[in-house]
Amino acid sequence: MDYLPVFLNLRDQLTLVVGGGAVAARKVELLLKAHARVRVVAPRLHTELALYRDAGRIEHLGCPFEPLHFDGAIFAIAATDSSEVNQAVAASGAARGIFVNVVDDGAASSALMPAIVNRSPLVVAIGSSGHSPTLSRRVRAQIEALLPERIGELARLAGAARERVQRALPDIERRRRFWDDLFAGSIASKVFAGSMREAEALLDAELRAAADGSQRLRGEVYLIGAGPGDPDLLTLRALQLLQQSDVVLYDRLVSAAVLERVRRDAERIYVGKESGRHRVTQQRIHALLLDYAGRGLRVARLKGGDPFIFGRGGEELELLQRAGIPVIVVPGITAALGAAAAAALPLTQRGLAPSVTFVTATGEGAEGLDWRSLAAPLQTVVFYMGVAQLPRIVGLLRAHGAPAERPAAIVERATLPGQRVIAGCLGDIGALAQQAQVAAPALLIVGEVAGCAARSANPIQALLAPGTASA
Ligand code: SAH
Repeated sequence: MDYLPVFLNLRDQLTLVVGGGAVAARKVELLLKAHARVRVVAPRLHTELALYRDAGRIEHLGCPFEPLHFDGAIFAIAATDSSEVNQAVAASGAARGIFVNVVDDGAASSALMPAIVNRSPLVVAIGSSGHSPTLSRRVRAQIEALLPERIGELARLAGAARERVQRALPDIERRRRFWDDLFAGSIASKVFAGSMREAEALLDAELRAAADGSQRLRGEVYLIGAGPGDPDLLTLRALQLLQQSDVVLYDRLVSAAVLERVRRDAERIYVGKESGRHRVTQQRIHALLLDYAGRGLRVARLKGGDPFIFGRGGEELELLQRAGIPVIVVPGITAALGAAAAAALPLTQRGLAPSVTFVTATGEGAEGLDWRSLAAPLQTVVFYMGVAQLPRIVGLLRAHGAPAERPAAIVERATLPGQRVIAGCLGDIGALAQQAQVAAPALLIVGEVAGCAARSANPIQALLAPGTASA
């Protein structure tokens, strides 16, 4: 290691920035964020810097750089576009024992500015020892995606409780365990989900329990929407929680690619139900959830699409809440949205479809539907679980007044390898589907917007008319 990363406390300390351009402006902004006093030496100032000067936030010297500008400063940045001036700044800094960063010149710098991920008070600094700032920035982007937005708030919560925890748990081992559990468990999850009040209450309860030894293992459940299949469509929060789960209960519609993103050593349990012939009953799933969470494990309940769209997420949520088990719900991209994007088919469109309805067309569900309103013009209706029901759905829509020419599209395996779009109208969609041997999972989209599927330049194999079909 050629460099030692340190965090400088620059509050109210004088810093020197030589240069008045856009690059200097970005550095000044950083220094001001750290509450430093800033002296800028430059004949001309970038607009942003001029604003800072006018607001009295920086001191400006409009003359060429001279070594005496270092007086009183404890850190300096050379950010001019002249390498001679930058070298001169570095040399005078070195003569005075002051660290100088020369922008984009690692060799001339005695201090390097890292790329940072700012979740203040938590800050991650990334450096490449001057080898490749671009690589550092790429790594930063990866860490950005990994770190929950509110991890800074978790740091603040921990900071505020620190003394209390120290008093309640004088034994250092127990204290360390308490913090470890806190950062990995439901308190952290609550903070990340934005429920600060609940997190604080949980912390108090757990601290009391830890202090009097009545602590019990506390598991939790994440009801996670896995999206339509493409793992890049997972939310960042879903990824974060999948990375910290001990057990994953997943459905049939959760793609193999999504499962790849689960923590390597997590236990994976398939709880898929075959439509019609239930292999794992909902009761059994409930029992598994209670059992694993009851043993103090972090359980991810991973469902295709969104957990609250035809996913029975509501029932599982209610069960867990009744059992007093903390639950975090993470939305997923529901199949209709994945299919619409994949088929380049807007679900609502001015003039064509001011509204969209998601319905499920399986046996019992279909009975209660208001077919007259579903058949009405100028709207989009998306039928989930419709493949086997296709002739019946089309028949009912037609019987309630929908014309044969109304556009209809089937999206099979949306966002998954082998995705297909079959576009037609109510009059021929049944035949087209049969010809293409459409299989689950697939969605039926009915309404004027479904015509876009035919018009759009769809990059994925599209079956546009009878005769072009292939299985
Ligand atoms: N909770 C899920 C829906 C579960 S119901 C969600 O929000 O998407 C299961 C039905 O969703 C399937 O029968 C099919 O109609 C639809 N579906 C799920 N994934 C799909 C995909 N990748 N492509 C097309 N339809 C899909």
